[in-house]
Amino acid sequence: MRREARFYEKLEDKKIRCGLCHHRCVVKDGHSGICKIRVNDGGTFFQNAYGELSALAVDPIEKKPLYHFYPSSKILSIGTNGCNLSCKFCQNWSISTQETNRDKATPFDLLKMAKEQKSIGIAYTYNEPMIWYEFVYDCAKVFKDAGLKNVLVTNGHINPEPLKELLPLIDAANIDLKGFTEEFYKWVGGDLETVKNTIITTYESGTLTELTNLIVTDKNDNIEDFKNMCEWIAGISKDIPLHISRYFPGHEYEAPATTPETLDAFYEEAKKHLNYVYVGNFRKEGAEDSYCPHCGELLVQRSGFLAMKIIRDNRCTRCGKELYFCS
Ligand code: SF4
Repeated sequence: MRREARFYEKLEDKKIRCGLCHHRCVVKDGHSGICKIRVNDGGTFFQNAYGELSALAVDPIEKKPLYHFYPSSKILSIGTNGCNLSCKFCQNWSISTQETNRDKATPFDLLKMAKEQKSIGIAYTYNEPMIWYEFVYDCAKVFKDAGLKNVLVTNGHINPEPLKELLPLIDAANIDLKGFTEEFYKWVGGDLETVKNTIITTYESGTLTELTNLIVTDKNDNIEDFKNMCEWIAGISKDIPLHISRYFPGHEYEAPATTPETLDAFYEEAKKHLNYVYVGNFRKEGAEDSYCPHCGELLVQRSGFLAMKIIRDNRCTRCGKELYFCS
């Protein structure tokens, strides 16, 4: 299925310029943008995978990862194909770099499924959702109107105008902050300033915001850069949760997995600056649990994707302070 794309302008000779992400692709008639699923047909630009799903599952919310948004709940999760970045270490490359079989679904089909599965809402995830913006937007409206939640799991590469239009529909987001140098972002085909803007705008909109930093061996594992990143996050809010994630070799990058020593050092550094720091893809005692930043009380205990919620009404059960949670 296809829908006419939003946020593009028509140029001479049936070319178009897409305004959805930082690439601002100029696309000739008969060609697609870098993300592959936005296509110029005769001078009109289309999103080519509208309502076509490469993956659909009901996941624990902890798997997104979102640790501060309705802990221990389930969420219907969907993805399609394509991406606007080109990470050589991509862990979902089979759907982000190639076309796969796709099942069709309307937003109302998905709403029915979510209700049947007792899901709190829907997560746009698995591949980069901003490149199938039109479907995300339509679906998000249907879920919002029905009183269910919308969750984005994104690399943050979206321009300010489409982001601002979407955010009133979005309840929570996990945004990748893949590194903190332009050099690293250049290597993955991205743009650090675009991601920083997305993080600030999302947090300030009231959408519950969590961040993920995958530590890629020999690429973004410089502790000074990481310290700068943590200080920058703390400048927005010390309450923004940061998930430090272990990288494993795969796709087109074969450096060894992040070492436990590196994960330890980054975890300890992040805790100097931020109230909520977690380690993912690696079992580290206590680094999956949430603690009250005021009195140290255990708020949520986790093991893998299982969570036991102790926090009540977004307040610490011991000191009563209001905390950065939706629970
Ligand atoms: S969304 Fe796709 S087509 Fe549009 S600018 Fe980004 S990569 Fe290019």
